[in-house]
Amino acid sequence: MPAPSDGSPVLSCEFFPPVTAEGLIKLQAARSQLLALRPAYFSVTYGAGGSTRERTVEAVLDIQHSGPVPAAPHLTCIAATRDSTRELLLHYRAQGIGRVVALRGDMPSGMRDPGEFRHANELVQFIRTEFGDHFHIEVAAYPEYHPQAPSPEKDLDNFQRKVDAGANSAITQYFYNADAYFRFRDTCAQRGIAIPIVPGIMPITNFTQLARFSDACGAEIPRWVRKNLESFGDDREAIRAFGLDVVSALCERLLSGGAPGLHFYSMNQATLTLAITERLGLIPARR
Ligand code: FAD
Repeated sequence: MPAPSDGSPVLSCEFFPPVTAEGLIKLQAARSQLLALRPAYFSVTYGAGGSTRERTVEAVLDIQHSGPVPAAPHLTCIAATRDSTRELLLHYRAQGIGRVVALRGDMPSGMRDPGEFRHANELVQFIRTEFGDHFHIEVAAYPEYHPQAPSPEKDLDNFQRKVDAGANSAITQYFYNADAYFRFRDTCAQRGIAIPIVPGIMPITNFTQLARFSDACGAEIPRWVRKNLESFGDDREAIRAFGLDVVSALCERLLSGGAPGLHFYSMNQATLTLAITERLGLIPARR
């Protein structure tokens, strides 16, 4: 299924590789519902250190071969060698995969092997050197800056390294503050960075989980959002309704401010992504 060529936003969704047979069935159901978005690709995360290697490959090939949306595997630097990375990419190329998401990853606790690539720019460089232009390479971007970055300026320098190494486009860490995205995008443009920077969108379903993720990855939950979510306690319907309002309004602002598309962190569920895109008029209203 081709991505829209009429200037409408490019949509994509991210999944994690399921652990159980039940998880696989749920993922397949979510995927088939998300076809309504006419996504440009479905990406599949990779456990840094290789913990999900087989499951990621399995989920990627399931997507790629069941069609119609192409799969984009994530791959990380942690514990990876040039040989293991080449082998994985040769396998993907042979299976018709043409897009990858190249990341550093975070060292899992208890692991000591950083691998042969120190940062994502080295991984991007390696892919370009070994595979030429075969792969469309996505990299990560951080409108609120990466938590380990010594300064915003240095983080931008490091983002630029990935672009200079050959990244074609970027997906951002999720955020709830549109101004952070616009400032990041405009600063990149001033530096001559011309690749599309697609906002990563995290629908809100569960406050405790979101707060934990956000603490770990440095994404800020604005006080007014946090306070509202906290006040709902276990009322999942209230959280869902409020989250839907907040995230739909965010997406609307991003698109009207010129964001080239939206990448949904689906958490292997379709309902909220469908509800958001429906509100935005990007998919027909469902009954
Ligand atoms: P890098 O670009 O290497 O940056 C990491 C830090 O190092 C930054 O602080 C940066 O400023 C600094 N830096 C970068 N290059 C240099 C350099 N050359 N010299 C000195 N400092 C440098 N994690 C997973 O484990 N699996 C996944 O599937 C996964 N998918 C993700 C998808 C998206 C869209 C995003 C946004 C994140 C994802 N992550 C995933 C999380 C990601 O791995 C972490 O955020 C990680 O901490 C940084 O990865 P990166 O690719 O941005 O690293």
